[in-house]
Amino acid sequence: MNDNNQTHREKMKQVKADHLARVKQNKKSDRGLLMIHTGDGKGKSTAAFGTALRAIGWGHDVAIVQYVKGTWKTGEKEFFKLIPDLLRLEVMGQGFTWETQDRQRDIAAATKAWEVSCDIMNSGDYDLLVLDELNIVLRDGYLDVDMVRQGLLARHPRTTVIVTGRNAPNSLIKVADLVTSMEKVKHPFDAGIKAARGIDF
Ligand code: ATP
Ligand code: MG
Repeated sequence: MNDNNQTHREKMKQVKADHLARVKQNKKSDRGLLMIHTGDGKGKSTAAFGTALRAIGWGHDVAIVQYVKGTWKTGEKEFFKLIPDLLRLEVMGQGFTWETQDRQRDIAAATKAWEVSCDIMNSGDYDLLVLDELNIVLRDGYLDVDMVRQGLLARHPRTTVIVTGRNAPNSLIKVADLVTSMEKVKHPFDAGIKAARGIDF
């Protein structure tokens, strides 16, 4: 028992030393990161909003552009409306595409949203910009992927950008600093349970 304890202690000491050496080597990034939350599991947007909340806590300048779900009432939108001095919110979407059924209108909304996104990320006034569901707009061909990739790369170095949505294009994944793919293990929807207020929207 004691031997085991001793071995464990020595092993943990080594793990800690390795970790500290690694941390010491790593440097603070001198520019904002490009981050992507993708995959078919729940949590992509929630994690982005959580990061926004963290950044606001540090007094950072934060903006969120929502590309889809414009007409839906959501808990996050209601909350963001309460803190207009702490967060800039741009809701550009016109609702789900199968609700609008108007491709030209969707393209126009996406184009406008991208223009606003560029203004925000080029201004140098923001530490964090969340482009919620931008991947969906790209998947559906409403914006040119190459144009978006170039725009993201040309942003002001101060600004970290989080892009969310399923089916992130490979060319964005290639140039991103962080890519997390949410994996669905279970989702209540598959068991016939409705999306719920305060949990899903
Ligand atoms: P959330 O906003 O909850 O973080 P998300 O951003 O990862 O979810 P989206 O693809 O944007 O996921 O879908 C938004 C809505 O669809 C949410 O109500 C979410 O609960 C639901 N959803 C997410 N993943 C799944 C899934 N695998 N099956 C069914 N519904 C899902
Ligand atoms: Mg989402």
